[in-house]
This record gives sequence, C-alpha cells and structure tokens, in this order.
Amino acid sequence: MEDRVNYSEIVEFLRSTIRRETGLLREIEEYAGLHHIPIIQPESAALLKLLIKLHKPKKILEAGTAIGYSACIMAAAMDKTGIIDTIEIDEELADIAKNNIKAMGYDNRIRVILGDALEVLECLNCSYDMIFLDAAKGQYIEYLNHALRLLRPGGLLVSDNVLYKGLVAQKDKIQHKHRTIATRLKEYLKLICSHERLETSIVPIGDGMAISLKER
Ligand code: SAM
Repeated sequence: MEDRVNYSEIVEFLRSTIRRETGLLREIEEYAGLHHIPIIQPESAALLKLLIKLHKPKKILEAGTAIGYSACIMAAAMDKTGIIDTIEIDEELADIAKNNIKAMGYDNRIRVILGDALEVLECLNCSYDMIFLDAAKGQYIEYLNHALRLLRPGGLLVSDNVLYKGLVAQKDKIQHKHRTIATRLKEYLKLICSHERLETSIVPIGDGMAISLKER
C-alpha cells in the first residue's frame, strides 16, 4: 500500500537531512527493513527523541515493541536512570527485542512484557510519565482508557500511525481490508482531540503521530 501522508520528495529530503542513527541502532533499522518488520520511521523517531528530551520522562510505557528499536531509541534519549516497560504479542519478535536491548546495554532499563497489549494494560497499576502507543492500530480506543489511568497528570501520550498511510483522511471508499482500522483511528483522533483532560496535536510526520498532554 502506498504511503500517502507526505510527498515522497519531502520524506526523502527529511531523511537525508535529519541526524540518522548509527552503529547498532542503524543495524537494527536495516534488519527491520530486510525482514519487513515495521518500526518507527526515522523522522518520527527524531520527533520522539526530541519529545523525550523536552518532557524528561523517568518512566515510559510502550505498546508494540517489535524488535526493540523504538524502545532503545527512547532509552538513549532518556536520562541514564530512565526505565521503559514495553509490550509485544509476538514471542519471536519479543525474543529478538530482548537480544537487541541486551546488545545495546539497556537490559537493566527496558523490560519486555510478552502479551496482548490490552490484557497487559488492564493488569498494570503503576504510573508512567509517558506512554507510546504503537501496537494494534484498531485497538487504540480500548488502550485510551488505560493509558489515561496509567499516565500521571502532566504526562505525555504519543500515538503513532494515526493517519494510517493517509487512509484516515481519504474521502473515497477505503479498501475493505483497511476500512475498520481507518474508521477506528478516525474515532480515536476525535476522542483524543475532544477529551477534556487532553491537549492534542496531530502531526503529519511519518505515518502520522498524535501528541497529547494530560492536564494536571
Ligand atoms: N514500536 C516499534 C518500533 O518502532 O521499533 C514498532 C512496533 S510495530 C509498528 C507494532 C508491533 O505491535 C508489532 O511488533 C506487533 O507484533 C505488535 N502488536 C500487534 N498487536 C499487538 C497486540 N494486540 N498486543 C501487543 N503487541 C501487538
């Protein structure tokens, strides 16, 4: 499916201009590309890092680990004592993530939780300074109540892929296989934009990123 959030010239320009990952992180990025594992896009990763450096979270919760790329990027941007809980449903990916996290030297700061994000969220009770949603796009609405419960007042909720390759804004009929996710993401965006406790901005970067601040 074609990516229609941004013009390809702009994406190309951004990717050749922003500071890109090097070393092991670049290798993980290349591995993901080679094995068709979806990871955060470089320009979205740059924004995520900036948000972390501005917001200075001590504790982050991520839904959707894949091979641990974004978790390692976030750990690198955090203070050296910052910790991350990250949830992944796919056992094979979770194992690769654990290996990558260990190789990056973050195994004492990043905990990979194997399971369905919604079920894990239901069981969590601690408070987080930031939550990054990047798991099942069709379930963001269900994640929201838990995210709001787990996020401290003044905490940051970041949701990736909210424009879903531009389909969320498409006026023509959406292909059946993508229709439910696009409709649900549209509802999710309406919810976080109208929520009385959230201040939200939708940024058309990468596959679309929503940034919401939970009011104090
Ligand atoms: N955050 C990762 C990164 O940028 O490096 C990429 C995550 S990828 C876009 C989405 C991940 O969510 C996949 O690895 C997928 O297996 C996982 N996932 C899908 N449905 C899930 C669910 N219900 N619970 C937990 N993880 C899920």
